[in-house]
Amino acid sequence: MITGKTKLLGLIGHPVGHSLSPLMHNAAIAHLGLDYVYLPLPVKPEDLPVAVAGFAALGLVGFSVTIPHKQAILPFLSEISPVARAVGAVNTVWHTGSGWAGTNTDVEGFLAPLLACNRDWSQTSALILGAGGAARAVVAGCAQLGIPVVRIVGRHRHKLEAFQQSWVNSPVPVLATHTWEELPQLLPQSSLLVNTTPVGMYPKVDEMPVSASDMAALPTGAIVYDLIYTPNPTQFLKAASSTGAMAIDGLEMLVGQGAAALQIWLQQPVPVAVMRQSLRLHLGLPT
Ligand code: NAP
Repeated sequence: MITGKTKLLGLIGHPVGHSLSPLMHNAAIAHLGLDYVYLPLPVKPEDLPVAVAGFAALGLVGFSVTIPHKQAILPFLSEISPVARAVGAVNTVWHTGSGWAGTNTDVEGFLAPLLACNRDWSQTSALILGAGGAARAVVAGCAQLGIPVVRIVGRHRHKLEAFQQSWVNSPVPVLATHTWEELPQLLPQSSLLVNTTPVGMYPKVDEMPVSASDMAALPTGAIVYDLIYTPNPTQFLKAASSTGAMAIDGLEMLVGQGAAALQIWLQQPVPVAVMRQSLRLHLGLPT
């Protein structure tokens, strides 16, 4: 029940109507029996300054940040975590008493299912498809795992060069960039393949970033990770599983980044299984 004492959390973005975050966070809050509520808060780009000032006036405990504000929020923060600086984007903000602090929990979310795998990451070579915002969190995650070689595949040389250049002063592993034509040569040496493009996402569920026949070239024991969570699994992950690779879907990253954010706001352990189950039920997936 919402009362005059209920503490406020939320998600800013534009649009936010499609987001599954309110469902996941409110399920965890209800499970913990806490007097908090997590609200979708649509904020147009031009309204960001007045919205952030308003959040301080309203006493929000914290908020999630999604497209298009993940970079635009940086000037409003008095503290930015090293991981958010490395990624160049913030997805979680909280009030410190003297101002707003921000971090990026997408990295922790990306890592959550990988840390459950028993792997020697120093012997792993990662291939990342796409060079957008999510790819930045994936690169930072690979660096945290100690993966020595990370290769990025993208469509445009100039964007790939800018992406590579942006990591020059960060503690990331060897970062090489390639175009899609080079994929057949890269797959046999890639024991971790990550799709960060929207190819295969609902409604274009029949599309795949890599053909099933090309995927057969992956080394034995490869991990194939798709950041997409609708559909679940994607055609890409179905093809990966049929070649014997270990498939990881984007729902685990969504749950992991949300759990890490909620833990920051509540300052206590959060029920990750409840968050996962709320999403799986909503998406009609087995729980
Ligand atoms: P983004 O910044 O727009 O980046 C998308 C990347 O994919 C860009 O490099 C883009 O290349 C490339 N791309 C787009 N369409 C392509 C196509 N048809 N063929 C080849 N490459 C293509 O988006 P993002 O924020 O990184 O998100 C990417 C995906 O990750 C989305 O599906 C999103 O839902 C998912 N995601 C999931 C989670 C999670 O928690 N599971 C978190 C974040 C993101 P150009 O630059 O050339 O256009």
